[in-house]
Amino acid sequence: MDQKRIVIIGGGGTGAAVARDLGLRGYSVLLLERDEFTGGTTGRHHGQLHSGARYAMGDREIARECLRETEILRRIAPDLIEDNGGLFVAVTDEEADYASQFRGACAEADIRTELISGKQAREIEPALSQAVRCAVTVPADGSFDAWRLPAAFFASAMEHGAKLFRYANVIGIETSGGSVSAVRVLDRMTNKEHKIEADVVINAGGPWVGKIAALAGIDMEVTPSPGTMVAVQGRFADKVISRLRPPNDGDIIVPQRSFSIIGTTQWITDDPDRIETPPEEIPRMLHLADEMIPAFSSAPFRAAWSAARPLAKRAHEVKAARALSRDFDCVHHENEGAAGLFSLVGGKATVLRAMGEIVADQVCSYIGEERQGSSDQEKLPPYRRFYRFLKEQESERKFSWI
Ligand SMILES: Cc1cc2nc3c(=O)[nH]c(=O)nc-3n(C[C@H](O)[C@H](O)[C@H](O)COP(=O)(O)OP(=O)(O)OC[C@H]3O[C@@H](n4cnc5c(N)ncnc54)[C@H](O)[C@@H]3O)c2cc1C
Repeated sequence: MDQKRIVIIGGGGTGAAVARDLGLRGYSVLLLERDEFTGGTTGRHHGQLHSGARYAMGDREIARECLRETEILRRIAPDLIEDNGGLFVAVTDEEADYASQFRGACAEADIRTELISGKQAREIEPALSQAVRCAVTVPADGSFDAWRLPAAFFASAMEHGAKLFRYANVIGIETSGGSVSAVRVLDRMTNKEHKIEADVVINAGGPWVGKIAALAGIDMEVTPSPGTMVAVQGRFADKVISRLRPPNDGDIIVPQRSFSIIGTTQWITDDPDRIETPPEEIPRMLHLADEMIPAFSSAPFRAAWSAARPLAKRAHEVKAARALSRDFDCVHHENEGAAGLFSLVGGKATVLRAMGEIVADQVCSYIGEERQGSSDQEKLPPYRRFYRFLKEQESERKFSWI
């Protein structure tokens, strides 16, 4: 392969991180997003910077990866992270009993914690319920702006030559001789169709990953799984407040600017384009928030919305959505007649950089080149540069490699 032309489909955080990693390695990258950048799940999630504590009981390796990535993000994007720390609160005796196993699992994943009394927890966060019996502090937890972080990744990718197109809907993926050869894109600004030749195509479609793979005739075992979040006016705690129990509905309150967001739930759907927030979930979320912070539900209501993640299983095989793996997977479709087509399933916004690196490593190995990544070393540029770069690129909107 002489010339490596890499098309990324999907302009969420994952696409941004992959574009940056490949750009840093000197590849020609063209990214296509059918709507606004970050208009999918990326622009709608909780914004929790996961230390890994939430996952430590279930999977130490995922927990360790989260911790590693929070440390890297704090280094390469210090201005985009709110270093507020987290408190896991026990509201019942059963939850208080869970503290020691929870802390043991965190310790095995190298996540620092401290056990404090309910009184000490209320001294730190006075809005906490009197019912809080004890709490575990997790200093590595935090929050971040769901839009600004990927915007900084986009800006970095563009600094390294990536071309980004919004309102560019991919409507076809072509193969030739068992390898991917081109994508067909509908420019929603002009309603014109274009063909872009490609040596590698990366499907970073988030919950749309199955729909995009189907454009190449590939039937993927994925199910979009949405969750609901509810925001109220007021910042009741500066720390991320989580329930001290195995992951469940309505167990995280994240402070974002002057709002507080409770989330989330998890159900499954066939179509990520038709997600409606179930109305009964809103009072349920508010009730669950009140168990940790009693003033939550009486604060002015601001918004309720849902966003989906792709889960690696078919809908009819799903029994409990939470039982499914949250691992990240980069699937190469070489045995399905589409060598060079990669589909990305799962992951978390916290580990977007690591996902970009894993994909770029796999692409390098497919191409047969050893190009070392440096995405964990290079500081991200200010996110504000993103729209400046975009304006420059959009002044000449040409769906081509030059
Ligand atoms: C309810 C919920 C809460 C979450 N909270 C957190 C959290 O607090 N912290 C955390 O770290 N992670 C969180 N996550 C996970 C995180 O949101 C996701 O891992 C991340 O946003 C996924 O980004 P993505 O780029 O893979 O997908 P997306 O952001 O959905 O991007 C996919 C993009 O592909 C585009 N697209 C689709 N089809 C086409 C096409 N044919 N042509 C071109 N473009 C196309 C879409 O428009 C979309 O912009 C949460 C997830 C959910 C569901």
